[in-house]
This record gives sequence, C-alpha cells and structure tokens, in this order.
Amino acid sequence: RRAAFAALRGEPSTTRDGAHITLMVNAGLRDDVAALDVTGAEGIGLFRTEFQFLVSATLPLRQQQQRLYREVLDAAGDRTVVFRTVDIGGDKALPYLRQSGDDEEENPAMGWRALRLAMDRDGLMKVQARALIEAASGRTLSVMFPMVSEPWEFDEAKALFEAQRAWLASQGRMMPHAIRYGSMLEVPALAESLDILLPKLDFLSIGTNDLTQFLFAADRAHPKLAERYDWLSPAILRFLRRVVVPARAAGVPVTVCGEMGGRPLEAMALIGLGIERLSITPAAIGPVKAMLRSLDRGALEGELAGWLDAPTGDLRAKLSDWAQAHSV
Ligand code: PEP
Ligand code: MG
Repeated sequence: RRAAFAALRGEPSTTRDGAHITLMVNAGLRDDVAALDVTGAEGIGLFRTEFQFLVSATLPLRQQQQRLYREVLDAAGDRTVVFRTVDIGGDKALPYLRQSGDDEEENPAMGWRALRLAMDRDGLMKVQARALIEAASGRTLSVMFPMVSEPWEFDEAKALFEAQRAWLASQGRMMPHAIRYGSMLEVPALAESLDILLPKLDFLSIGTNDLTQFLFAADRAHPKLAERYDWLSPAILRFLRRVVVPARAAGVPVTVCGEMGGRPLEAMALIGLGIERLSITPAAIGPVKAMLRSLDRGALEGELAGWLDAPTGDLRAKLSDWAQAHSV
C-alpha cells in the first residue's frame, strides 16, 4: 500500500466528480520541508513557528528566526507556506521565558498562551513579525494567528504586523509583494463572530485539535479520553458546517489543519461539508489522496447533509458503509 500511495505522488488530488482538493502538509522544523517533495503536497498549510522556540535553549534571535523562515520559503519555492505566529505558553512552556509569574496555571490549554501571550509580550511578536516580513521579501507572506477568540484580537495582531511593515519600509528594506492575513478557528466562541471576522480575513484555518478539545471539554492529550468522543459526531460536523457555510459565502478560503483531516474517513466527511483545503501530517497525504480520488463529492454532500439534519445512529458507521459502497 505504501508503494501505491507513493505512486499517487504526482497525480492530481481531484475527486471523481472533478473537485480539486488542495492537500498541504503541517510542518515546524527546517527539515520538515522535505515532505513537500516526498509527498507531492501543494504547500505547507501550517508552519508551527513555536517549534524553533521549543528546541532552543534561549529565545531565538530575530536573525535566527529570519534565517529559518527564509530557508523554508526557499525550499518551498512556488508552493505556499502559511506561517503561524508562536503558539507558546500553556503546556508548551519555555524554560527561558517567564510566563505566568509565580502562578501555576490550572488549565494551561485555556491559559495565557499563543496570541494572548504574544500580544501581551508584544516585543516577542514584533521581533517575529519583522523576521517574517524580511524573510518573505520579494514574495507573498501568509501569516496566521493562533487561538484568536474574538475579532479584535485578530485586528490587534494584524495592526502590529502592519506597523512593523511600515517601519521596515521606512528603512528602505525589501518588502513582501503582499501579506495575507488569516485567523485560526480553534476557540468555539469565534464561530459566533464570523459575520464580524470574515470580512477582515484573507483565509481561515480550522484547528480541529484544540477546537474539539474545547467543544467536548475534553483534554486533547488525556489518554482516558482519547477514545471517548468521536470526530465524526454530529456535534462536531454540524459545528464545522456552521463555519464553512458563511466562510464560503464570504469567499474566504477555509483550511482544516488539525489531525482530523489526516484520517481518510474524517477527511471524507470534511470534503462532504464543502472543505476544499486540508493541511495534514505528511504520512497522511497518500491515504487521503487515494480516498478523495475515488470520492463522488456531490453524492456525499447530499447524503451527509441529510444525516446531519436528522442524526440517527452511528455517523461513523454510516460514513464508513457509504465509503465501502461507493469506492471504486
Ligand atoms: C489545532 O489546534 O488543531 C492545531 C492545528 O494547532 P496545534 O495542534 O498546534 O495546537
Ligand atoms: Mg491549536
């Protein structure tokens, strides 16, 4: 099967009824970029910039950050790279960065992390913004913010980047052609602000790891809870539908970048909801591509909509039976 997946490397990721699904990889280290060539993925849909911070003994300097970002962009060539600003704090604590003062966090996943920490310590964010903007000179920079919970947090982060861009331009530095700004959607409350948020965005990326942990109030890393709730539950899929429908109507591209998208049956359900962009672990590209190339998306869309409108029985079993019955 490995060989069969490898043989798909150069084949288009298009469903049987002609829908192109953009398959990208998640990455975080310089060497992860090799996965682009190995898998034939179309880009890096999530570059977790905090990895550099986590593997470093001290806060990475601006030049070090910039060098990494430039190397990644050079290796990616024409393929898109979406850089996510640091998602540190919480359980990704950095020994060299004093975080919550003397307070231990009781709920680090819901604590002072990601954009919350980065905007409070805005020196950190300014350094990263400059490193990204300079690294992307002469190209388009795509940047997204983690753990946005209310639209004003996106506004503040974008304004910080724009101020750094203006400052660098005033210094006569080479600039990116354009900067595309996106938000992650991984905090459920943000889904209730889409009418305000969507007009501001160039793209939206749904982080199903955190999103589902918050929707089910179930720690994503807790071994006793790992099997308890299903990504293919009506609650999750209906929630995602409520995000995808207005985003599509607003013309904002939506990516799913959580682990959910790397499982073929889950990916099938996401495509059935209208999601056309997945950023997944490199090893999942082959299996997901094999699935979608045998998928009649139009037929699934209708079926899935009916199941979600009137959920009865086990949705995973229905999707799995449907996949069996319809695979070629
Ligand atoms: C997510 O939460 O789904 C996500 C993609 O980000 P991370 O796994 O890095 O928290
Ligand atoms: Mg997350």
